[in-house]
Amino acid sequence: MCKPKYKRVMLKLSGEALSGEKGFGIDFDISNKIAKQIKALVDMGVEVGTVVGGGNIWRGRNGKEMDRTTADYMGMLATCINALALQDSLENIGVNTRVQTAIEMREIAEPFIRRRAMRHLEKDRVVIFAAGTGNPYFSTDTTAALRAAEIEANVILLAKKVDGVYDKDPHKYEDAKKFNKLSYIEVLDKGLQVMDSTATSLCMDNDIPILVFGLDTPENIIKAVTGENIGTIVSK
Ligand code: UDP
Repeated sequence: MCKPKYKRVMLKLSGEALSGEKGFGIDFDISNKIAKQIKALVDMGVEVGTVVGGGNIWRGRNGKEMDRTTADYMGMLATCINALALQDSLENIGVNTRVQTAIEMREIAEPFIRRRAMRHLEKDRVVIFAAGTGNPYFSTDTTAALRAAEIEANVILLAKKVDGVYDKDPHKYEDAKKFNKLSYIEVLDKGLQVMDSTATSLCMDNDIPILVFGLDTPENIIKAVTGENIGTIVSK
């Protein structure tokens, strides 16, 4: 079995990643495939925390006519739906999990308690952090950066639809150039679409590397953790 490069990781899955080709809702084939890859990490001895987005169901900015705060709370609730779907896929294949939410919903999940999350990770349970940061005007990328700092993760694995960071949109421009390595400052200066600037700054201030890679093949999650040369690494 391959040796993992990291002991504890924060896997950020966008909501879109869970919707697959459909682009909306949850594709359980995809969720099950992602769960298998997470299981492989756990079997390798990697401790896995994960933050799921909600964009496949609702984004705050979709609610143009709405009060922004209410629209953002709807987005946070969307992340909880995704978290339960991923939990189900993981538990179906025998992975122990806990969902912790930043907004209390005790009948469904534990509230976020850092020390408890750390203990779960030490016991090889996958912790799924849901409901974002619990605050409007933030994103689940920022949640991933915040929780990564709190649980002292070695890296953020940022699973995207694109296989790394490019100087321009590779879907639109054939000559788009992929970066292998970038510094946080370059990401911020060039306005590259890696994470939003709040999340990038939080990673920079706390020296948390971000590995951006494509989830077109879910096996990439294992490649990312075993140190294969994929995607783009953003660090100091
Ligand atoms: N959200 C929020 N605060 C947070 C995290 C998320 O208000 O701390 C809301 C926000 O409206 C966002 C939505 O939840 O649009 C879904 O999260 P995000 O867009 O980050 O999901 P992704 O694009 O990763 O699927």
